[in-house]
Amino acid sequence: MITAYIGLGANLGDPLASLRQAAQALSATPGITALRLSRFYRSAPIDSSGPDYVNAVAEIHTSLTATALLAALQHIEQDHGRLRPYRNAPRTLDLDLLLYGNQAIDTPGLTVPHPRMHERAFVLRPLHELAPALQLRQGTLPVLLQACSDQILSVIPAQD
Ligand code: AMP
Repeated sequence: MITAYIGLGANLGDPLASLRQAAQALSATPGITALRLSRFYRSAPIDSSGPDYVNAVAEIHTSLTATALLAALQHIEQDHGRLRPYRNAPRTLDLDLLLYGNQAIDTPGLTVPHPRMHERAFVLRPLHELAPALQLRQGTLPVLLQACSDQILSVIPAQD
């Protein structure tokens, strides 16, 4: 079993509902045995456009290979009607494979650890919530978070 981390984001339609459904779809995926989901955060778009994003991170235990896991993520994205009219277009659902155990993967279709995760507060904060002691190649999560403290992020209060 590998512990992997998935970044979830959406800024179109009903982003909270999309993220909840995506987390459910992940839990229901064969080869994914356990899932812990961070709180939901609201963030302003970076390298993208449109309304604010809702973001979260999921920690999973999986027997899937990294390639099979990415395929499963893309399948869930497609189920949520994601269109790709142009690069970095607003999206109804974006799922990124952030970390796959401690493996470094660099193939044309897959780069892990995700190459931009260390500079994005909307990834680092929910990741820190789930795994405070985790270290990235670039540093500890608190140090990396300090470096992007200009990125405004707010926790969405849990409902019901
Ligand atoms: P995006 O539009 O940001 O969702 O990027 C999707 C593309 O990035 C797909 O073609 C993936 O093959 C590629 N990709 C490379 N590394 C990753 C990763 N760690 N997680 C998700 N997509 C990745």
